[in-house]
Amino acid sequence: MALIDPNKLIILDRDGVINEDSDQYVKSLEEWIPIKGSIEAIADLSKAGYTLCVVTNQSGLARNYFDESTLHAMHKKLTNLVSEKGGIIHTIEYCPHGPDDNCECRKPLPGMFKKIAETFELSDLSGSYTIGDSARDLVAGCELNSQPVLVKTGKGLKTLSATNHPENTLIFDDLNAFAKHLLSSHSLKN
Ligand SMILES: [Mg+2]
Ligand SMILES: [Zn+2]
Repeated sequence: MALIDPNKLIILDRDGVINEDSDQYVKSLEEWIPIKGSIEAIADLSKAGYTLCVVTNQSGLARNYFDESTLHAMHKKLTNLVSEKGGIIHTIEYCPHGPDDNCECRKPLPGMFKKIAETFELSDLSGSYTIGDSARDLVAGCELNSQPVLVKTGKGLKTLSATNHPENTLIFDDLNAFAKHLLSSHSLKN
């Protein structure tokens, strides 16, 4: 039996969706800066009964640009900011590997999404939403039938012009615009 309603599950990429992205990697707590409205969006969705999970590639660990304690400090900042607004992030999954490590978790591979599905005892992620600014986020979610949502923050505009995102992708200006739309219409899926 599923532990949650998959229609109320939202899986978020981190860099470029929740916080400002950097081509030089987000390496320190000081460099972890929320995108305007993203914390409120997460809190609002949480308070409306959605379960929010974060899945993020963090190859900066493999590249020794920062260490796990710094990453955990960034994630504590994130969860604290969300809880100050009355919301909860259920899970943060990260891939610590580099592109040559042949792991199964680095997006576009779906390893972290499979783990989320297992966590909630779901056979796949049908009904859920996967929000990303890169095609690889959306491709990974699609492997488990999650609805892809592209935001124009971070690398989003670049992704949009590259047109390599899945065909059924929904597009929003940012996470806050997605949240507002979802909370007003209750369903974005056809
Ligand atoms: Mg990203
Ligand atoms: Zn990995």
